Amino acid sequence: MLNPGVKPRQTIFPCRPQMLMHTPPLTIRKRAKATLRQLRFHPVTDAGPVFLSPRFSRAQRRELMFWISRLPSAFLRRLPPLKLASADQLTVVRSSVFINENPLPQNRSPVEPTHAVSFIPERYIVLDVELFRRRVEAGRILYHELCHFIWPRLGNPRRLIFETLNLHEFRRGVRGELGYSSEWRKLDLLAKSRTPAGAHRNAKFFPGISASMRRRWLEYVCESFCDTGAFVLLGSERRRIHSEYTLSLMARKRRTRQWSEIVLGCEAERL
Ligand SMILES: [Zn+2]
Repeated sequence: MLNPGVKPRQTIFPCRPQMLMHTPPLTIRKRAKATLRQLRFHPVTDAGPVFLSPRFSRAQRRELMFWISRLPSAFLRRLPPLKLASADQLTVVRSSVFINENPLPQNRSPVEPTHAVSFIPERYIVLDVELFRRRVEAGRILYHELCHFIWPRLGNPRRLIFETLNLHEFRRGVRGELGYSSEWRKLDLLAKSRTPAGAHRNAKFFPGISASMRRRWLEYVCESFCDTGAFVLLGSERRRIHSEYTLSLMARKRRTRQWSEIVLGCEAERL
């Protein structure tokens, strides 16, 4: 779900105490990136383009292989080689994800757990180990994260097709989404477009919006793509009723058809 995109620092702590006085404090964001180092590994177990951490148990590896083996070959061909690891704890602090640590006192700063995080430049996906207690949910979250690696490689024409679909939904007032990641961003965009300043923008909503709104919009489109992808890829494993599937049936069909055409190059299965 969250997608930090900065490479971790290679050298963080000075060797001698006196150097500490001249070292600027690391930002929360840089400290968060550094926590990935403890999970890094050399490729050992091959599941196609996805390498599994040697720290996974046999049962966890079997479960992950099940979900990866179900992926269409057209999807796998679009994936870059990437590594999959798990953490005992993923904590969000000021929009940055910390692995197995919370750097701030609990009573000083709001923190929230997250199920998974993708490090796009480093090509790592880190799953919260608790996910393995919920079989289908683990598959859904894994597929969502894999889609984060497809989105930047789709190319502008295909990304524009999906963005245009989202835009038409907004203009028609289509409510709901296929996952919490896109749903809260959609609600945030709707709320901001209803404010007095937003109402002015809303008349010409997408041409001429501010840079920050444009950034929020693109983040929403990306999350919508990934939530839709997870929905499509689950196929027969998909739960009929899920609290995060709030998009109408008709809109789901349009999404499924469009997503499948631009990613898999084929018609999707019937819902
Ligand atoms: Zn996401």
